[in-house]
Amino acid sequence: MRNISEKQRIVIKLGTSTLAHKTGKLNIRRMTNLVRVISDLHNSGREIIMVSSGAVGLGAGKLGLPEKPKDTKTKQAVAAIGQCELMHVYDDMFAKYSITVAQILLTKAIINNPSHCENFMNTVEKLVNMDVIPIVNENDTIAIDELELEIGENDSLSALVAELSRADLLLILSDIDALYDDDPRSNPDAKPIPLVEKITPEIEAVAGGAGTSLGTGGMSTKITAAKIATNAGIDMIIMNGRDPEKLYDLFEDKEIGTLFKAQ
Ligand code: GLU
Repeated sequence: MRNISEKQRIVIKLGTSTLAHKTGKLNIRRMTNLVRVISDLHNSGREIIMVSSGAVGLGAGKLGLPEKPKDTKTKQAVAAIGQCELMHVYDDMFAKYSITVAQILLTKAIINNPSHCENFMNTVEKLVNMDVIPIVNENDTIAIDELELEIGENDSLSALVAELSRADLLLILSDIDALYDDDPRSNPDAKPIPLVEKITPEIEAVAGGAGTSLGTGGMSTKITAAKIATNAGIDMIIMNGRDPEKLYDLFEDKEIGTLFKAQ
């Protein structure tokens, strides 16, 4: 029995591939459905904290760029445009259900600084107590990978957020249904793994090393996130964000996606 129905404080991570089309423009149908279901989970009394990507993707889409920029300066400028768009969309969509959202932007330096980190934790706590949904992203306009100040991907960020906000569950919505025992795109016989009790070298091997990517963010960053979350005593689920209605099944303890058990 998974006991997901009992989870109270949930960090939900949405990747760019879940919320935007390949053009970088908003996936309106997906987002409308996701916001509706997340609002319902919130209304059922659960405490929701979101980690949302999409700043760079939506910024590129808004400017009509053919792809995400690669050079740091352009990427940071584009993120500033997209982050604004992203929060505008969330604010507007959640308002339909009378839910207030709040933006929190983090950097590695903030997380590594104990007093800044405490401020973050206090703010999350206050917002959740005010019945608000905090929406966290990396502050892509400030964080610089050249100076190793960047976390760089939101899978690990969401696990750190889950740890700092003392969540009961980290839910990563991706473009892949589960962790498979082989790459499902090249092996049609690959089988989903419903439960990972412990992250063994075999599990790391099926997820692929750095550079091998099953999902858009890659399965290896999800394993990194799973290690952070499960070592902090938090269950983590990866599931497909394509069909938001499946979240209802998940919270009725149906076997959806892969559950990484808290250690
Ligand atoms: N923070 C980046 C953005 O909002 C996304 C990082 C990721 O996709 O993991 O565009």
